[in-house]
Amino acid sequence: MSLTNIAPTADLQALDAAHHMHPFTANGALGAKGARIIVRADGVRLTDSDGTELIDGMSGLWCVNIGYGRHELADAAARQMRELPYYNTFFQTSHVPALKLAARLAELAPGDLNHVFFASSGSEANDTNIRMVRQYWALKGQPQRRTIIARRNGYHGSTMGGGSLGGMAAMHAQGGLPIPDIVHIDQPYWYGEGGDMTPEAFGLARARQLEEQICALGPETVAAFIAEPVQGAGGVIIPPESYWPEIQRIVDKYGVLLIADEVITGFGRTGHWFGSQSYDIRPNIMTIAKGLSSGYQPIGGSIVCDEVASVIAQDEFNHGYTYSGHPVAAAVALENLRILEEENIIAHVHQTAAPYLATAWGALADHPLVGEAVSRGLMASLALTPDKETRARFAGEVGTVGYICREYSFANNLVMRHVGDRMIIAPPLIISTADIDELVARARRTLDQTLAHLQREGLLKTAA
Ligand SMILES: *Cc1c(COP(=O)(O)O)cnc(C)c1O
Repeated sequence: MSLTNIAPTADLQALDAAHHMHPFTANGALGAKGARIIVRADGVRLTDSDGTELIDGMSGLWCVNIGYGRHELADAAARQMRELPYYNTFFQTSHVPALKLAARLAELAPGDLNHVFFASSGSEANDTNIRMVRQYWALKGQPQRRTIIARRNGYHGSTMGGGSLGGMAAMHAQGGLPIPDIVHIDQPYWYGEGGDMTPEAFGLARARQLEEQICALGPETVAAFIAEPVQGAGGVIIPPESYWPEIQRIVDKYGVLLIADEVITGFGRTGHWFGSQSYDIRPNIMTIAKGLSSGYQPIGGSIVCDEVASVIAQDEFNHGYTYSGHPVAAAVALENLRILEEENIIAHVHQTAAPYLATAWGALADHPLVGEAVSRGLMASLALTPDKETRARFAGEVGTVGYICREYSFANNLVMRHVGDRMIIAPPLIISTADIDELVARARRTLDQTLAHLQREGLLKTAA
């Protein structure tokens, strides 16, 4: 019996409640209810401490791209730990896993994104990006180019820097965020904010907010624009097709650096190696993490273009992490990239799984509670609504209905997350069409139960 599974569930829950502070959680309420204890996993399925199997519709937290249970990654970690468990890259030293991973990422990344600065997470990598773009402009003799433009309801991590770049109001409400010189524009969320405009016109209007903001601040003060190709944590918000080409035109026109936060969209999620390729954008820096190691080890980084890297190289960059390029994490990431490539997993997404999901998930749009059912690659979302025609919101606090739906989903042994009243999934990239059918069947059952619940409780009401 494994170490994690030696006690009855209630005992594990009591220990968890007494000592473990969960992220993004009201710990008092969770402690009273008891966390679900996950003890093992294989493929797209998790097993909890009562032996119940769940379909992991979220790839952990958007990261387990190759699925669970790949012993090759465990072997790579064990081999590396025996050979060289740790060494730093500060002391004019390097090691084989870090340099090989950097070279491999340079091969995979589009354009002249040829240089990698490693971190252990997406948040850390975005903190690196803030300092790197400002240092870049300082070295170019334009130190006044400090401001970074980001988006409301974007997500870029939870450190002081990452949380500041992110546009999550609930995060900014706590702990003194955002840090100075970060400015937010609106998101390209047509379903929720597009009103009577067509998606195409709305996408252009939201992109042009970037130009308006750059001009209002003065282009000579703007260092960079950061955005996710598809917003993940914001609710799988897929921009209108008109959005990204206009953004690219604007950053090119004003010489503003473009940072594509590919922490979710990288490594196959959208059906290409990177979301930037799916949307034909040319970032100067890409943030990576999550799928880089399929979550088997904590690792992230910034992939940097030739121009920015060559300027940064002119002076000492006073920045780095003890675990930048950690050899065990890098060895595991290399093995993950080998599997993604040799098993043609991204082609499976592009040719098979994504089109299949688009049809199966898209069919949920006929459900009375669903205002839209959309996907891009293997990330998908539903908008819950009391009135499909008007795309109305529910009366009462945003997220109340989403939470109810999430609870039914969890009870149906499907991990589907809610963001406000949107339901989202991002399953492992190796998911089969049979498992997509099973996932969607559980989602539909969940919607039926949610609808019945809302009717019973009188919650099927439109906001005034
Ligand atoms: C998860 C996420 C991050 C933060 O990564 P962590 O590893 O949790 O620090 C940053 N950007 C995006 C787009 C993410 O989804």
